[in-house]
Amino acid sequence: MELDRLGWTSSLEEAFEAFGSAGLIPGRVSAAHTHLYHVLTRDGEWLAEVTGRLRHEARGPEDFPAVGDWVALRPRPGEERAQVHAVLPRKSAFLRKAAGSTTEPQVLAANVDTVFLVAGLDGDFNPRRIERALVLAWESGASPVVLLNKADLGGDVDARRLEMEAAAPGVSVHVVSARRGDGIEALEPYLASGRTVALLGSSGVGKSTLVNRLLGEDRQPTSEVRSHDQRGRHTTTYRELVVLPGGAVLVDTPGLREIQLWATEEGLASAFDDVARLAEGCRFRDCRHGGEPGCAVRAAVVAGELAEERLLSHHKLQAELRHLEVKADLGLQRAQKARWRAIHKAARHHRPRE
Ligand code: GDP
Ligand code: ZN
Repeated sequence: MELDRLGWTSSLEEAFEAFGSAGLIPGRVSAAHTHLYHVLTRDGEWLAEVTGRLRHEARGPEDFPAVGDWVALRPRPGEERAQVHAVLPRKSAFLRKAAGSTTEPQVLAANVDTVFLVAGLDGDFNPRRIERALVLAWESGASPVVLLNKADLGGDVDARRLEMEAAAPGVSVHVVSARRGDGIEALEPYLASGRTVALLGSSGVGKSTLVNRLLGEDRQPTSEVRSHDQRGRHTTTYRELVVLPGGAVLVDTPGLREIQLWATEEGLASAFDDVARLAEGCRFRDCRHGGEPGCAVRAAVVAGELAEERLLSHHKLQAELRHLEVKADLGLQRAQKARWRAIHKAARHHRPRE
């Protein structure tokens, strides 16, 4: 497999140089399990583990390899597994809070160029859900593109497209039918060789149908992956990174499909660019647009220049964000307390006996 086809670039080449001189090879993570990774390289796919050093130096889950990551790999001919020595700098990353009570981010997918935010033009049509996905997309560094799927069902497609364009300012909106193939050719610019794409959207909007359409075949639920394995064993895994017939790389991880917010104020401001711009006219810099005097955002709603639902979505996502921030703060405090406890305990231990 040519590395270019997997999305290898000259800036990655540069970042990799020192590792290359040390005898490591570049590869792209196609599946990530706990402590075990599938990595695609020039000469096939390896099963790999991270080195003890990488594990030791990781500040949190986000420093471990994720699907879509480029890594520096040491193949170990004759041994069962290769070793991941480093994760190359990411161009983009989708984060979500890790399972459990902590708010440490976890990387769902890395180095995605374009993320297709899919919505269905059926009874379930709801631009508010796309607003949420947009926050996540802007936050990731990938460029969002909205797909309105199920165009074949008819209905007022133009009105819905306008509604969606209002919910996603500055974002291209394409009307498609994954089932029939209508409008799919408009996606070609995003699907050039070496580009990486991902799909985001609620269940039932047609993501699997679209994946099959892009693959030009029905994707098997599990596909056999040949790995370098001394004992000639074959591991069967569902690959989460595949090269499409047209040349683009598709990252399709189950985790990415179920959206959970991990975002910052900047992500919110980008997704709600219209609100952010209006807010510049508010009397107070920290205006929450909740009834403060001189609020330009509320004034725009009253004047019919901004949809009220849009302001409500903004409020809702902002509240969620605050909640996450508070939790992250608490987590930090807890970690600090635990550290001090450990230090005190160690100090007690070393105290000379009286
Ligand atoms: P996912 O949950 O997002 O992966 O959605 P699926 O791909 O499983 O599709 C959900 C349902 O919508 C299935 O019954 C599909 O056949 C149907 N569907 C998907 N794309 C289209 C389309 O373009 N037109 C119509 N009419 N139905 C579609
Ligand atoms: Zn305001």
